[in-house]
Amino acid sequence: MAIIINGKELAQKLRLGLKDEVENLKTKGINPKLAVIMVGNDKASEVYVRNKSKACNEIGIEFEEFLMPEETTREELLNLIKDLNERKDVNGILLQSPIPKHLDIREAFNAIDYRKDVDGFHPINVGKLAIGEESFVSCTPAGVMKMLEEYGINPEGKRAVVIGRSNIVGKPLSQLLLNANATVTICHSRTQNIKEIAREADILVAALGKPKFVTVDMVKPGAVVIDVGINRNEEGKLVGDVDYEHVEPIASYITPVPGGVGPMTIAMLMCNVVKAAKQ
Ligand code: NAP
Repeated sequence: MAIIINGKELAQKLRLGLKDEVENLKTKGINPKLAVIMVGNDKASEVYVRNKSKACNEIGIEFEEFLMPEETTREELLNLIKDLNERKDVNGILLQSPIPKHLDIREAFNAIDYRKDVDGFHPINVGKLAIGEESFVSCTPAGVMKMLEEYGINPEGKRAVVIGRSNIVGKPLSQLLLNANATVTICHSRTQNIKEIAREADILVAALGKPKFVTVDMVKPGAVVIDVGINRNEEGKLVGDVDYEHVEPIASYITPVPGGVGPMTIAMLMCNVVKAAKQ
């Protein structure tokens, strides 16, 4: 039986700590503020933005929302980012993805001042992470590292296998694990012998977005299993990438879905906003 890594509880603890920190900053005249830009009307994005707004409220971080219509032009979006970059009262800027197809999201991310890039997507922050310098780190990978730390799991010297190489999860998480002195292997859709590779892992991370992809025969008994995936199964239930029912009995630690990595993502975003305000 594995120890269940309780992301919900841990995220709540982090938020309480941040609340105190924000109150303290306010006594010094610093009012942390997050600006969120949403372009178009993606239903899932609306939920994500609402959750971010709620988290800010709870902690005492000011929240300003910029809802732009579907037909927003490149110039309008870049001008808004420029204004927010210049505004002294705004500490963090977040551009909610996806944005309409006629706009270039990479160009927009790159336009955000890297010192306000609380999502950690700007090339300067990505580069700083690669060379092990202090930077804003993408929230989901940062949340995974925080979970390991809080549960006393030290990656040093361990074999870590990360399945998924996206710019927002797989790559930055691999980098963080490497910076923490793990021996890291990254798997992706072209990887051969993925089962054998996964079975070597002391820390196995699934971040690919395929329900029940990680089956029990892919897991070394006693491994730490981190499930980043968020999928809907045939019954519409939220599930991860790991066959939880069969893997949990042989793992040493495991994250559930929901209630695992998910809640940590917003908590780490809040950490990044407070960090930006302090700078
Ligand atoms: P993504 O951009 O679609 O990337 C998926 C990655 O998985 C790609 O690198 C892809 O390989 C790889 N992959 C796909 N099928 C594979 C297969 N059969 N075998 C091995 N590798 C395979 O997804 P993402 O944004 O990283 O998200 C991954 C999952 O995490 C999704 O379920 C997403 O909803 C979830 N997520 C959760 C949180 C959270 O807060 N918990 C945050 C972000 C994302 P290629 O590069 O070769 O295509």
